[in-house]
Amino acid sequence: MARFFLQVGENVLDLFSSIVGAMTFARREEPIEIRYLVDAAAYHDVLRIECSKCDHQVAWEPYPLWWWFECKGWDQRLTAVPKRLYCKKCWQLVFRKFRPRPPYPVRADPDPCHLPMPLEREWKRVMSRYRR
Ligand SMILES: [Zn+2]
Repeated sequence: MARFFLQVGENVLDLFSSIVGAMTFARREEPIEIRYLVDAAAYHDVLRIECSKCDHQVAWEPYPLWWWFECKGWDQRLTAVPKRLYCKKCWQLVFRKFRPRPPYPVRADPDPCHLPMPLEREWKRVMSRYRR
């Protein structure tokens, strides 16, 4: 599939994959609302996380992010995720913690993530109980 990138400064906005992602959701037999990290993980949706202050953004696989929140016992609603994250780029520049916007699913290749992947047995346990 052809992909088009819009170069903005040093960031690459993967607009095309966002559009394809939205179209794919619309075509699913039952529209799936991705509200929790575990939803994104169950549907293998890469999550886009954007800083609310600067133009820094990442696309992370949902599994390590879900596992991190699971281990910490944090609220896993996507709307609650920003409370636990801050922009590394802003921190390095001005030593202030700016929160990202709530993550949303995209069709994109994931960026490297420093968080650990879930233990296989935990992943299987959660997915065996996962029903939507
Ligand atoms: Zn930032």
